[in-house]
Amino acid sequence: MIRIGLVGLGKIARDQHLPAIAASADFDLAATASRNACADGVASYGDLAAMLKAEPEMQAVALCQPPQVRHAAARAAIAAGKHVFLEKPPGATLSEVEDLAQAARQAGVTLFASWHSRFGAGVEPARAWLTDKAITGIAIEWKEDVRQWHPGQDWIWQPGGLGVFDPGINALSILTRLLPGPVRLEAAHLEFPSNREAPIAASMALRTSDGAPISAAFDWRQTGRQSWNITVTTDAGVLLLADGGNRLAIDGIAQPLPGEAEYPSLYAQFASLIRDRRSDVDVSPLRLVADAFLTGRRSSTDAFHD
Ligand code: NAP
Repeated sequence: MIRIGLVGLGKIARDQHLPAIAASADFDLAATASRNACADGVASYGDLAAMLKAEPEMQAVALCQPPQVRHAAARAAIAAGKHVFLEKPPGATLSEVEDLAQAARQAGVTLFASWHSRFGAGVEPARAWLTDKAITGIAIEWKEDVRQWHPGQDWIWQPGGLGVFDPGINALSILTRLLPGPVRLEAAHLEFPSNREAPIAASMALRTSDGAPISAAFDWRQTGRQSWNITVTTDAGVLLLADGGNRLAIDGIAQPLPGEAEYPSLYAQFASLIRDRRSDVDVSPLRLVADAFLTGRRSSTDAFHD
């Protein structure tokens, strides 16, 4: 069993990491580090530095804080010789993730930049089905109610918090897994609430390496039905990945899939990387978001109040 510490006990740590670690045959939760929260039955520390000092036997840490503070925490954990699981996005900038990858290489520890949506039950079957098809177009629709999913998360509206790209990057993580070649951004439009520093809505026009058009629409103002859909049109039918990658239909016919197991699969992958002394740091979804911030047209929209 790999002794692991969990850092940043917020929504995702409680909803997914704690249950996944508890059910894992590979990991044993040794301690948590969070300023305002603790988990039952394990040692709790107010911050990562205190946890690293008090738990020398710990072999790995999972970092679940907002992306703006992840680099400093990951650097400290790597310097202490720990394997590191990064929640998505792996950092606030591309350059800091590169820095982490090099530091992990030099320290001989595993760095895992996780993308949970890639472990949606339909993603690998979709990828397999697409292997011998010619893609003619892709449409991404990722529309959810920010008040329902991110209440009171100030960090998400601050620089580095990504705004609507916080969920949108999940779609881009699936897209970059489905396609064999690189994806290129051609244009983007970002809508910023007049009182916030991150977008509430965005659209992207992208292209596959074979030239097929991809449209992406991200919107946090969706009420009622929420949609996390990717539709891929091919020369041999239409594939729909729905529910964030957990439902798959081909030409309207639902495909049988195993149940959802994104976080158990992530922890199994982390254990396998540690055993194989490898890292997995794919920044391609973050690069597309960075390109949208670099080149996207910006407009101001209504102020947003939680
Ligand atoms: P959250 O509920 O705000 O939790 C993050 C926790 O990190 C906080 O509770 C806080 O705990 C700690 N933290 C440390 N430094 C912080 C700072 N400067 N500002 C705010 N909190 C700080 O956020 P979350 O939804 O769990 O998301 C965390 C990460 O997981 C994000 O990168 C997000 O994209 C990713 N993620 C979220 C979801 C989801 O459904 N929510 C799904 C997948 C991935 P203390 O105050 O106790 O230190």
